Amino acid sequence: MRRKVLNVHAVHFYPSVTNYHLVITLVDDLDAVHRALWALWMGSDRLRGVYVLERIRRGVAAADVLSTPKAFIDGFRFPDDACACASKHKAKRVTDHCPAMKRLMMDERSGDYFPRNLDKKKRTKPLNVPWGRVPKKLLLES
Ligand SMILES: [Zn+2]
Repeated sequence: MRRKVLNVHAVHFYPSVTNYHLVITLVDDLDAVHRALWALWMGSDRLRGVYVLERIRRGVAAADVLSTPKAFIDGFRFPDDACACASKHKAKRVTDHCPAMKRLMMDERSGDYFPRNLDKKKRTKPLNVPWGRVPKKLLLES
């Protein structure tokens, strides 16, 4: 704001159940990619950011939606849609059946584009990675 890189209209800060939401509104709108890049730069959730960028790459018009049971920005930010889901829109069992997610993201509503480390196998010994090319076998067997 001080450097006037972005023409900030207002800054809003809201608590959520597990963390918080910082919402910055600008005088002039940014395109979706530019918004996603700024969100990542400002510390937004990395997983959320790459999913937004991937949905943009796939042509999803509503690539970045805010799922919340309450209105944000004192009525300034209106919901993109509404649903009656009882759970957060994370699990495929929820997003596959959510009518709002279907309207907003169509077939991409349950897209799982990037593998996360859900490996339950514990590493039993330290992994000493050599300089230069790292053998895949070393990584897979550690
Ligand atoms: Zn829903």
